[in-house]
Amino acid sequence: MADLLTTLQRLLQDEREVFGDFLVLERPAAPKSRQAPSPEPGNSPNLSGIEPVKPASQEQGEAPDLFGVVRAAPPVTHETWSAAPSLAELDARINKCMKCPLGATRTKFVFGVGNPHASLMFVGEAPGADEDAQGEPFVGRAGQLLNKILEAIALRREDVYIANILKCRPPNNRTPFAEEVEQCLPYLRKQIALINPKLIVCLGLTAAQNLLGTTESLGRLRGRVLSFEGIPMMVTYHPAALLRNPNWKRPAWEDFQAVQHFLAEHGGDAGKEGKAHG
Ligand code: URA
Repeated sequence: MADLLTTLQRLLQDEREVFGDFLVLERPAAPKSRQAPSPEPGNSPNLSGIEPVKPASQEQGEAPDLFGVVRAAPPVTHETWSAAPSLAELDARINKCMKCPLGATRTKFVFGVGNPHASLMFVGEAPGADEDAQGEPFVGRAGQLLNKILEAIALRREDVYIANILKCRPPNNRTPFAEEVEQCLPYLRKQIALINPKLIVCLGLTAAQNLLGTTESLGRLRGRVLSFEGIPMMVTYHPAALLRNPNWKRPAWEDFQAVQHFLAEHGGDAGKEGKAHG
């Protein structure tokens, strides 16, 4: 029963992520503006430049900042992990974290995996049951789909870097709470700073909204080149959402082709150097 409720909750959440605050009752007959963003030219990623995105503070009608998102500077921390010189060292310094209640319920801390010098970095939401058991992101069904998608754009899992917004599994795979994100996001920021990828791809709305500090829907965030602190960022469907909604695989495929195109244009080979770190 709990599983059924979680599945229903996720389906509704998927709809909300893509369509915003609309209830889509009949997808095939839905008006165009409510349909899942299609791979039409209008939805093809704009590769001509990095676009600003509306931060949550501007969604009540304030004019967007033409030069990008103006966000509060991330809090400065003097904790020892913040000076870690490498991913391995960062992992060692944070993997006993107990800053939020998820520390007490996790089996394994899921730091991240891949090439520490990757050109392409993926950010998902949070570990699920398989990831919690194995201590590695995207190893369950969604991860297998991600591996297949990577293969289709001529990349291997060990070429890219994969991490999540949260390092510990939320019970029942529920969406992360704001307080959990607040504690955990600085770790991801530090990972991003150490890797310095050419492109970040957010897998799903939780990753996108938390990194961009926006409440815009997935439908509005897809198909654009956004910016995370100067690093180009694209947003696509979460692979788990693709497993639940196979009709989104086609637009997702368009997104990944855009990723491949972006990397080809911006000199992003598989990785800059180095090898995988779990
Ligand atoms: N979903 C995520 O967002 N991350 C994982 O690591 C696994 C599933």
